[in-house]
Amino acid sequence: MKRHAIKFVGGIAASAIAIVLAAPAAAEDYIVDNVTLIDGTGQPNQQAMSIGIDKGKITFVTPTAVAPKVSGQRIDGTGRYLIPGLMDVHIHLQGARGGDGRRMVGKDPKNPSAPIPATAQADAKAARVAGLQALASYLYSGVTTVYDAGNVPEHILGLRADERAGKIQSPRIFATGNLVTYPGSHGDSMAITIDNWSEDKPKLLKYLEEQKPDIVKLTLDEHGWGTRPLITLLPLDLMQEIILEVNRHGIRTTAHTSSELRATEAIFAGIDSLAHPVIQGPISEEFAKLMGAKKVAMATTLTIGEGYSRLVEHPEYLDQPLYRAAYNAAEIGEMRSKTLPAWKERGWTWWMKLMTPIAQENMRMIDAAGGVIAIATDQTLGPAVHREMELLQAAGVPAARIVTIATLNGAKHLGKDDILGSIEPGKLADMVLLSADPTVDIDNAKKIVWVMKGGQLIDEERLPLAGGTQNRRRDF
Ligand SMILES: [Zn+2]
Repeated sequence: MKRHAIKFVGGIAASAIAIVLAAPAAAEDYIVDNVTLIDGTGQPNQQAMSIGIDKGKITFVTPTAVAPKVSGQRIDGTGRYLIPGLMDVHIHLQGARGGDGRRMVGKDPKNPSAPIPATAQADAKAARVAGLQALASYLYSGVTTVYDAGNVPEHILGLRADERAGKIQSPRIFATGNLVTYPGSHGDSMAITIDNWSEDKPKLLKYLEEQKPDIVKLTLDEHGWGTRPLITLLPLDLMQEIILEVNRHGIRTTAHTSSELRATEAIFAGIDSLAHPVIQGPISEEFAKLMGAKKVAMATTLTIGEGYSRLVEHPEYLDQPLYRAAYNAAEIGEMRSKTLPAWKERGWTWWMKLMTPIAQENMRMIDAAGGVIAIATDQTLGPAVHREMELLQAAGVPAARIVTIATLNGAKHLGKDDILGSIEPGKLADMVLLSADPTVDIDNAKKIVWVMKGGQLIDEERLPLAGGTQNRRRDF
């Protein structure tokens, strides 16, 4: 209507007329009508709903029959399903992950003020490209929020700044930058290490000031992970001091733990969330009940361990459209020809195949006991989020629950459920339109029509995906 009027008038007067025409009626950026709403809170599907979106936020959620008469771009949701944007609350964005990755971002960690050699500058560029491709794969897979649980700070914090400035196509990035732990403990190669509280407290304060972590990740594990040799454990009194200080800055904490004992200790040291399920063995009924009582959110991270045997036994998953978009042909070729045979020979692959069903059942029990579990992959690829959801469904978690676990529970894990995680007025407009019902089968969460972040439809044709340019999945 408005556009026709402008066209008709034409010329210099057009902009003045447009202002007059636009002024009186309330206008939304978008209105989705007649859609089946799955709002993320866990309430039953609501049919024939209208959702208003304006200036990045959800303005109204109401039956279409009684929706406010506002102008704006209308999207017909007939026969379609609207869910909140998915979240992955444990990733390590590719491009730079510890070890050699430190060199990839260019600076010498031991001498950060030294000039960056030309080769390292090229590596830093490659790291950024790889990071941007991974971020694009999340958006393409319907994931609108990620938490990076440990990375080379320059790599992830630079991308976080660019994301917040609207300079890159990316899900919302929350990050810890470095981890925090005890010397010799799990993850110490990428951590700020605290040995003695009174001496090392300034190190922690400097880290908080410089990196501005959204959620600080600690580690509490006497295993390197799984069956690896025993290593030094972060002392609990020190852990408590760190958590208290971080919380006093208004920042939440999360912890890497892998056993029931260490998860329990972390909770009673005051941790705000847990970065992994219990994977060292089956949990007790009492632990499930404790998780239900405490409601400390626990990340699922099942795919990381399951992914090894999956590649060996079912490499055909790489043919799925989401993986085709997220990897380039050379990467897929290398995974089939090199990674697959290497993983087949590793004991670790088969150990994780054995332990994953135990962790799956642990997650199901905690969810059933009223605990808060949240989708997380410990990986760096959008499609892995869908695999994570499949593994919960295989464990017997109802598909409708999994939608909440992948959305509102993720927001709770991050302490962001006041602004993210569900489709309710006032929240940020992060959502995904699907062509099939994910509460019947979570596999339907892959049937994406469009993805919206902060009230903007993602322009899929312009996503820098490793698999190349993809066609737009929506028909407008
Ligand atoms: Zn991790």
